[in-house]
Formats: sequence, structure tokens, C-alpha cells
Amino acid sequence: MFYQSTRGSERAADTAAVLRGIAPDGGLYVEAELGERPFDWRGCLSLPPLGMAEKILGHLLPGYADMGALVERAYAGKFESEELTPLVKVGEDYVLELFHGPTAAFKDVALSMLPQLITAGRAQEGVKDKIVILTATSGDTGKAALEGFHDVEGTGILVFFPADGVSPVQRAQMVTQSGANVKVCAVRGNFDDCQSGVKQAFAAIDRSGALEGKGRRLSSANSINIGRLAPQVVYYFIAYAELIRRGAIREGEPVDYVVPTGNFGDILAGYFARLMGLSVGRLVCASNANRILTDFLTTGVYDRRREFFKTTSPSMDILVSSNLERLLFLATDGDTARVAGWMRALSEEGVYRVDAGTLERIRAVFAAGCCDEAQSCETIGRTWRECGYLCDPHTAVALHVAREYKQQRGAGTPLVVLSTASPYKFPAAVLRAVGGELHGDEFEQMETLAALSGVPVPKGLRGLKERPVLHGDVIDREEILDYVLRQIDVL
Ligand SMILES: *Cc1c(COP(=O)(O)O)cnc(C)c1O
Repeated sequence: MFYQSTRGSERAADTAAVLRGIAPDGGLYVEAELGERPFDWRGCLSLPPLGMAEKILGHLLPGYADMGALVERAYAGKFESEELTPLVKVGEDYVLELFHGPTAAFKDVALSMLPQLITAGRAQEGVKDKIVILTATSGDTGKAALEGFHDVEGTGILVFFPADGVSPVQRAQMVTQSGANVKVCAVRGNFDDCQSGVKQAFAAIDRSGALEGKGRRLSSANSINIGRLAPQVVYYFIAYAELIRRGAIREGEPVDYVVPTGNFGDILAGYFARLMGLSVGRLVCASNANRILTDFLTTGVYDRRREFFKTTSPSMDILVSSNLERLLFLATDGDTARVAGWMRALSEEGVYRVDAGTLERIRAVFAAGCCDEAQSCETIGRTWRECGYLCDPHTAVALHVAREYKQQRGAGTPLVVLSTASPYKFPAAVLRAVGGELHGDEFEQMETLAALSGVPVPKGLRGLKERPVLHGDVIDREEILDYVLRQIDVL
């Protein structure tokens, strides 16, 4: 079994694909045979969550010698709930809460596992260099990556965040991060400045060979890495098994999943679960006001030449959804020339159109809907009033789309809505939506929200304001490269 590039004949074993992140030809690593390789999905459903993770990850990444130990190290005792991702009944539907990890973000599910895969892969491939993760973050990924990688042997992590672009809670989560191998730095500007600065630093270091002989190599923690995608397949099975246990379905009956989508990683993991045999009915892609995926799944035209909206669900404010490329590969039976052509058109002209056959194959599984800011606010308020359930703005986008989807589809197939963030990560937006009083800073607003709802503040967000600030550096975008080169020896 091997992974191959979506854009050409490049191939790699799973361990090597995880260490590299992106294929040398610019494509993403994907397994063409996933739908054909037999997997005992039924046997998987009776296992506890960590057992399920071991089985599923062992199937997706069979080159790792002891997946059970890696899973144990990644998750045991680190999540607030034994179930890992609890399923909650809300009205007639189910919400799968993915945010009970150490940083109260759904990114924890994948970023708890990735460091284990990188260290084990490094050992198995005989790599002596320290792997240094370089990340630009708009908030959630940075903290989840710091939490995953701090004090992990053989790795270091350097996180850049936009000085003007993260919430006070997100900033506090990052600048208070302890660990001997971590460094966090603010960059003057917005997320795009930060991200382009980091990309340029990657390219400049690659070109100049500046790390040669230093015993360091760079890697990235974003969701193009197959090692970040694979762990997300697991909770589709966890939810399905839980529905059987509660008598809501019988084994083999379909379940629809509604997924709040940005980079298309989370929902693609659901497609992988389907290819592995799980009875996933439709995968419903929920977008916020940046509705590029809704348009694509409706028309077959992917056009990023459009206005970009800053919304209250910032993790979904994305115009280039990288992981869609993997779906295009699978939907064309691995036609790398066609996929490479579309991706070239996207980068050169900002737009591509897929053929009718490809669109039809995609639409046989994927549905789509979107939700604007007013609808998201209304959904948070209504869900609270009618169901007594408090949700964050990302989850609200999915709940709104789920409602519309059910109106078209009719009753029947059970619906699981994926919930990607704790409401406490976005206290102002949530308070406003439920009619609470807005005063003080975000930390105070968290307390107001807790008093109003009776839902406790997640452990990872408590006492943040009192924790000592360990990272105070602020630099300009142009200084990122120098900063990396200065810090990399001491990490
Ligand atoms: C990252 C993120 C998403 C989007 O997930 P993708 O895999 O990028 O589609 C949605 N909600 C939250 C809170 C996130 O952090």
C-alpha cells in the first residue's frame, strides 16, 4: 500500500508521506485503492473509541509498527470525555461534539495524533534530524499544534499569529504556552500577511539550503498532511456506533452527516469512512457567507475571484479549500493530469470548471448549503431557546444547513451534525445571539455565558487570564525568515 500525489506519479510510503506533508510535485498524498482494500468496519463498531482509532488508523497508515501505543499516547487522559467525541441529541438530530480536547477546538483530534505519527515515522525512517514545525495560524490550529508538540522528543514548533487577527482568548492560549521546544511570535498585520510570510520563509530556506548541517528540517502541521486527515476518520465511526448502541439505527442503515467546512479536511474524512465501508448516506457541506464550496457543489465551477467576508465563524473563512483536490482525484479515478490542470487554472486564473461526469459523481454523495451571519446568529438563539443547547457560530452554520437540508430531503435518515468548537471560544457572538448582556472582556463574557447557561467553561480555557505570558515577541512580516533562522538552533 502506498500514497501517491494527486498531480503526478510521485509515490511514498505512509510514514514518508506524513514526514513530507506535501508531495514534491505540489500535489497532496492520497490512496487510490482505499475503496477497494477490505476493511472490517463491522468489527470496528463494537470497540471502545481508542480501540476504534487503533483499527482505523492502522488501516489508513499500515506502515506504523505499533499504532495502539501511538493512539494511547495521543489521547489517553487528554480529552475531557472517555468517549473522545460525545454524541448529544439536540431536537430530533444528533450533534457530535469534537471539541473536548486540551484546547477546546476540534483541531485537537488530529493534532494530538500528528506528533506521535511524526516521531514514530522519524524513528522508522531513520531520520536523525529534529523536525521543526512552522505554522501560521488564524487562532485554533496554532494552539492545538502547540499543545500536541510541546516537549515531544525530536520535534520543535514555531507558531506565528497575526497581531491584529486573533481573539483575546486565542492570544492568551498561545502566549502562555509552556514547553522547552516551543516558540510563539506575533506578526504585525493580518492572517494573510502572516501566512504569506511563513510560506516565503519555507521557500527561502528550501532554496538557500540554510539548514544543511544543522540537524533540523522543517515541516508543517496544516491539514494537507495525510497524518492530520486520517485521525478525523475515526469520529464518523464513533458516532455511527453510538447510534446503533442507542437503538436509533441498525447496522448497515445510512446516516447523513452535516459538516461545517473550511479547508474540506473534516468532510473528506467522512468520505474516507464511506470508502472504508461505513454506511455514510450523504455528506452535507455547510459553508458560511464565504460560500465558494456551495457554489462549486451546485455548479461545478470553483471561482475564487470573489469578495472575502470576515465572519463570526473565522475558521471557515477560506477561499481555497485545499483538500477538495483529493476528492477531485478520487472522483476522476486518479486522473492526475486533469487534477493538475484544474489546480494550475486555479492558481493562474483563479477559477476552474469540472466536467459534468465528475460533478455528478461528487453530487451522488455530497450535498451543500450555506448560512449567512444573520442566520447563524438566529440559529444559536433558537437552538438555545428551543432545545436548551448552546452552540458556537461554526456549529450554528451546520445546524442551519441541516435544517434546510431536511426540509428538502424529508424525514427519515438520522442526521449527525459535527460541532467543531466550544461556544466558550466565541463568547461575544454567542452571548449576543442568546440575548445575554455584553460587558467586560472575553474572559468576563465567558463567565457571563457560564452563569446564563449552566454549561461549565472547558478546562483548557479556565484561568487563562492569570497564566504568565511566556512569549512576547512581535515582529514585522519581513522579519519572519530571520526569526526562524535565529530560533531554530535553540528549539
Ligand atoms: C478548522 C475548523 C473548521 C473547518 O474544518 P476543515 O477541515 O478546514 O473543513 C470548522 N470549524 C472550526 C472551529 C475549525 O477550527
